[in-house]
Amino acid sequence: MISKNISVNEAGHLCFAGQDVCDLAERFGTPLYLLDEDRIRENCRLYKTAFAESFGEKAAPAYASKAASFVHMYRVMREEEMCIDVVSSGEIFTAVKAGFPMERAFFHSNNKTDADILYAMDAGVGYFVVDGEDELVRLSELASARGAVQKILLRVTPGIDPHTYEAVNTGMVDSKFGVAIETGQARELVKLTLTLDGVSLEGVHCHVGSQVFDEDVYQRTADIMLPFLAQMRDEFGFTAKILNFGGGYGVPYVQSDGTVDIRARIGEVAAHMKALCESLSMELPFFVMEPGRSIVADAGLTVYRVGAVKRIPGYKNYVSVDGGMTDNPRYALYGSKYTVLHGDKANEPADFLCDLVGRCCESGDIIQPKICLPASTARGDLVCVCTTGAYNYSMASNYNRIPRPPVVMLRDGGAFEAVRRETFADLTALDL
Ligand SMILES: *Cc1c(COP(=O)(O)O)cnc(C)c1O
Repeated sequence: MISKNISVNEAGHLCFAGQDVCDLAERFGTPLYLLDEDRIRENCRLYKTAFAESFGEKAAPAYASKAASFVHMYRVMREEEMCIDVVSSGEIFTAVKAGFPMERAFFHSNNKTDADILYAMDAGVGYFVVDGEDELVRLSELASARGAVQKILLRVTPGIDPHTYEAVNTGMVDSKFGVAIETGQARELVKLTLTLDGVSLEGVHCHVGSQVFDEDVYQRTADIMLPFLAQMRDEFGFTAKILNFGGGYGVPYVQSDGTVDIRARIGEVAAHMKALCESLSMELPFFVMEPGRSIVADAGLTVYRVGAVKRIPGYKNYVSVDGGMTDNPRYALYGSKYTVLHGDKANEPADFLCDLVGRCCESGDIIQPKICLPASTARGDLVCVCTTGAYNYSMASNYNRIPRPPVVMLRDGGAFEAVRRETFADLTALDL
């Protein structure tokens, strides 16, 4: 199975986190997001253990909460003593509602409005990750005006393409996020920051990408970031306390993706960084990474009910389900791959080639093309899409006025709703 929390029981039903998806569909309805809370906690502990082993006290993982953001998720992160990253006032509001200690939050975004800046300072957000000069100057003014000093990291772009072995790919220098080291703008921004009131420069941040499988991406990142910090020390006498490498380790969506041994990779990154710091005669700063996908993706499974099976002889076949791009826009957005399994005929051979499509009035409403289901697949059956814990619920919409599914947490053999199903009344709640 694509993920170790998926199995099949004697009745031929798919089980997720040991629970029969047919029973769960019966109890909570479809479409349905299932999230294996035990798995989320395991993933957090994997990072925490790996960080402690490799970096000792001087490192912490921060859950990138855009991957899946709702109140209960921040409770889990609070209980697991994770840091978090947030990217909007809405995520800050949600985290605060969960009682998350906001001094452990990093606030991203390439456009923080004045309202966002004030809101985040009011909420006691620990660190702003400042994206550029406009934000820096405004934050300095707003913080100074209230006599505050806001801790910040500067977001820089090291010019690394995470998916090739090119050491420097200038394509990444033109990112909409951060300021480039290569152009000298990052240096200028550090220099400017050190002259401003109301902000305290604690370190730097970079995010090289997502779904990273290449072994040495973070080593190559370190090869650029650590010498940059040494240069800032030599030129401006600035010592970075924190170095944040952003998110990124990949998870397998389909068998051919392979897996990442996160614990081993982090060990290698730590060894590489320690050696590099020694050669630069600098102390390794407190190290942060911001995993999102690799914390929640494999903790998710979406359950749909089939409404129609359409065979177009000589062309193709469609299986239509009761959800679609409204609950999972990732194939429509960027062609993401997914593993699809039958929910109640999981023991039957899957040799019926079809496209799994949603119910929206949109030809692009495809959950996954060219998948195989049992030939007996029919209206009323359950179909499950694996590895949907990240960027599914958080990207969901109400296109076609389709209510969003509930998020049901599976924990210790039990199940409970963490987000309830939207009602039709919810859909018109804002309409005046
Ligand atoms: C999206 C993002 C992450 C998380 O990336 P994953 O691939 O989900 O691990 C972390 N940091 C920043 C700044 C991001 O934009």
